[in-house]
Amino acid sequence: MHNIGKEEVQAVRKVIMDNQFMRYRGGETGYVERFEKALCKKLDVKHALTMNSGTSALISALVGLNIGPGDEVLVPAFTWVATALAPLAVGAVPVLVDIDETLTIDPRDVEKKITRHTKAIIPVHVCNLVCDMKSIMRISRKYKLAVCEDACQAVGLQYKNKYVGAIGHAGTFSFNQYKNITCGEGGALLTNDDTINERALIYHDTGCYTRSHASKITHPFFAGVNYRASEIQGAILHVQLKRLNDILKKLHTRRKLLAELLSQSKDFKVAPHNDPNNAIGIMLLFKTPRQAKLFSQRTGCRMMLESSRHVYTNWEPIMSQETFHPKMNPYKWAKRKIKYRKDMCKESLQILSRMCNVPFLYDTPIPEIRKFTRKLLSVKF
Ligand SMILES: *Cc1c(COP(=O)(O)O)cnc(C)c1O
Repeated sequence: MHNIGKEEVQAVRKVIMDNQFMRYRGGETGYVERFEKALCKKLDVKHALTMNSGTSALISALVGLNIGPGDEVLVPAFTWVATALAPLAVGAVPVLVDIDETLTIDPRDVEKKITRHTKAIIPVHVCNLVCDMKSIMRISRKYKLAVCEDACQAVGLQYKNKYVGAIGHAGTFSFNQYKNITCGEGGALLTNDDTINERALIYHDTGCYTRSHASKITHPFFAGVNYRASEIQGAILHVQLKRLNDILKKLHTRRKLLAELLSQSKDFKVAPHNDPNNAIGIMLLFKTPRQAKLFSQRTGCRMMLESSRHVYTNWEPIMSQETFHPKMNPYKWAKRKIKYRKDMCKESLQILSRMCNVPFLYDTPIPEIRKFTRKLLSVKF
């Protein structure tokens, strides 16, 4: 699936031969820093901070935004569980919000879930689909809430000609094995805000007071963890970033063709999209769950309700409200009783039960895409 090869091997080889594995180890500019500079330039964002995972980037973003005990953070009911775990890691609690037919957070339900204790929204650009950022940023201004975009599944995508991850107050990428570009495990935090960047810089690097860049930091130092990325990760990412445009362009061409051909169906519709002009991901919507199931069985296209790991009902560590120590349980610090029930986001379950994914890769040959759509259109209900 990934476009990865000789150039990445050469870059990693250089890291090993130079015996230069840690990003802050020495004088000359390393790969991690070069990658960050290239990322900032590409996304038109002021700061990019590479980390060891997307989860680390999300947690550091919330630290950056000063989210903590007593705070509520709005997250969508359909996402990788890490989105909902990040608030817990900083002592806050996730409050679940329904998705709409775009598979992303429903701005109308965001407004309904806001309480006096809500501090931030984490819109998730899931499955290479983008959120309705215009409505979300409007809500953020109206209620003075921070927006941390989880763009872990949408690296390089645009919403209305702005890069996702660089629209909210903070944004995060993941570079794990399943993402648009990869180095095995990795992530990045993006922000235009100097304070968020400084706080994340301190937090992700055990307080960072010993570094040569410590003298430039104006924020007081505080206790942190180690979420640093290594030069091996940086070396791979530096090459991967150069490949990203081509991958996304090819995905977009294929998505456009799929949408054109599949919109002819009378049995299903192509799911609405928050920015069709830049679209990469595509979903199909059926009138009934029975039809979606039948379609899934006949074609192998996954019914979204069955992509179980992403559905909130299956987020065990969230639903159980268990933490590693009873005294470190953010639900005890919440300003009101937070309860989760399997049916709390019914609208989301209803949509997911009528939705199927259309799988394709950046290098799927165009004739194969056409052949596949003929198969999908020929299903009899
Ligand atoms: C992958 C992913 C993450 C976490 O990324 P890791 O690098 O695996 O920690 C967070 N949110 C979403 C939506 C993801 O898909």
